[in-house]
Amino acid sequence: MVTLRIILGDQLSQNISSLSDFDSEQDHILMAEVMAEATYVPHHQKKLVFVFSAMRHFAAQLQAQNYQITYIKLEDPNNSQSLTTEVQRWCSAYSPSKIIITESGEYRVQEFIKSWQDLLHIPVEIRADNRFLCTLEEFMQWADGKKQLRMEFFYRQMRKKHQLLMTADGLPEGGSWNFDKENRKPPKKAMSFPNRLSFPADLLTQEVITMVKKRANHHFGDIEPFDYALNNIQAAETFKYFLEHCLANFGNYQDAMLMGEPFLYHSVISLYLNVGLLDPLDCCLKAQNAYQQQKAPLNAVEGFIRQILGWREFIRGIYWLKMPTYKQLNHLQVNRALPEFYWSAQTKMNCLHQVILQTRQNAYSHHIQRLMITGNFALLAGLDPQEVSNWYLAVYADAYEWVELPNTMGMALYADGGIVGSKPYAASGKYIKRMSNFCTDCQYDSQETIGEKACPFNFLYWYFLEKNQNLLASNPRMTNIYATLKRMDRSKIEIIQNQANNFLDNLNF
Ligand SMILES: Cc1cc2nc3c(=O)[nH]c(=O)nc-3n(C[C@H](O)[C@H](O)[C@H](O)COP(=O)(O)OP(=O)(O)OC[C@H]3O[C@@H](n4cnc5c(N)ncnc54)[C@H](O)[C@@H]3O)c2cc1C
Ligand code: SF4
Repeated sequence: MVTLRIILGDQLSQNISSLSDFDSEQDHILMAEVMAEATYVPHHQKKLVFVFSAMRHFAAQLQAQNYQITYIKLEDPNNSQSLTTEVQRWCSAYSPSKIIITESGEYRVQEFIKSWQDLLHIPVEIRADNRFLCTLEEFMQWADGKKQLRMEFFYRQMRKKHQLLMTADGLPEGGSWNFDKENRKPPKKAMSFPNRLSFPADLLTQEVITMVKKRANHHFGDIEPFDYALNNIQAAETFKYFLEHCLANFGNYQDAMLMGEPFLYHSVISLYLNVGLLDPLDCCLKAQNAYQQQKAPLNAVEGFIRQILGWREFIRGIYWLKMPTYKQLNHLQVNRALPEFYWSAQTKMNCLHQVILQTRQNAYSHHIQRLMITGNFALLAGLDPQEVSNWYLAVYADAYEWVELPNTMGMALYADGGIVGSKPYAASGKYIKRMSNFCTDCQYDSQETIGEKACPFNFLYWYFLEKNQNLLASNPRMTNIYATLKRMDRSKIEIIQNQANNFLDNLNF
């Protein structure tokens, strides 16, 4: 009897647990493109092309190796456009004896997979996702009984477990676990960046582009030019290029932002890691190798490995530890609607204009742009966490709920009250001025806090601190800033409050 193996759109790895004991005589693979998954948020058009085309390339790769596979395209006339119904349809036609699937990265999907056994009356084996460096059981054990969950301590444990950047004596390479202090350099005036590898759309991708244009042209984002990697070989080339041309400078300028330079020295691999075209441990080992061969300094390599081994795994652990309630959290009790300019990029604030424009073009922006520009504004303006979260989930090619949600709710919006970060990442325009060249082309003045020319990030920053005093002033990491607020003239605070309220009332004009 046939065993049905199901591969989801972000499970495009041949060594995934659901394929580990594939029997070419007996087993069959099902992959399906469905509208329900393409539209539950209005995903960026480039993201849709990336996922569907990567799925089709993966299926073709499996077919070439004689795997038996049914691939249901979005435009197939019998496609019911729901994953559960497509599985049901296949099972009714071929009566498999068993279904094997790797757990989904998303709580919502995992819940409906769990319902299949009762619904279909077929045993369903859900296997752990073997593409992470920390199992969920291991994370739960680490988190158990801890009052505070801090990435830094989790990361140290992971460094020891995987023996990454460790000396023979069991100490961290270079005598420190973290070199972040060296990784906050502002951009220099004249900087040049390596060109990125580009993979022109092949026939298969052109077909997907035509399909997405037909079905989702009302979604956010530019579909073309499309040149992301679409299989594991191209993704590996992209990563190799990063190691050779960008890694050495990755650390120093990790937080810098520049107009017209969306990628700087970043790796731009999250979209490949998250669908399984790259393996996280392999990336960490190759980065470590670059350090050992003296091709990149320790601050860069440690910083890069920490993002993958530390942040990425920590964020996933938090998601599964705290869902489903995590999604509803709203610690600061805010509910302002997402302004229209998050979609249109039409705003006089040049930093937001530039970042949203890059997002529209590339379905990408780097971490500090997400955290300190779009995220910081949403935090200061008190935008509704669910609306903001849906925006992040829609607009980035790497966005899946397990990684997007804790980054948005926890790191950017402090909606989780301090589960992910120990304090809100709130910053005024002075930070943005220091770390970017956005302010040089802006109608607002980053030095001004009140008045017509005042940078909105400046007055919103003080407005935010004043408004959330009851919730934040007792945080030891905010003592200094609240002491400054306390010294501020009351009349100045009132002017700031009026200016902020007036600005926020007119966000869409
Ligand atoms: C509000 C907000 C939303 C985010 N949403 C997503 C998302 O949906 N998907 C996503 O993959 N990342 C998300 N991130 C994390 C991070 O911004 C992206 O992983 C990173 O910008 C991807 O670009 P890169 O590949 O060039 O990363 P690099 O800067 O080159 O870093 C290397 C890798 O480290 C990992 N990484 C770095 N920081 C994080 C982090 N905080 N959480 C998880 N992984 C991390 C990524 O896999 C990344 O590819 C979000 C961050 C914020 C602040
Ligand atoms: S002046 Fe303010 S709004 Fe303008 S780019 Fe700078 S930080 Fe952004």
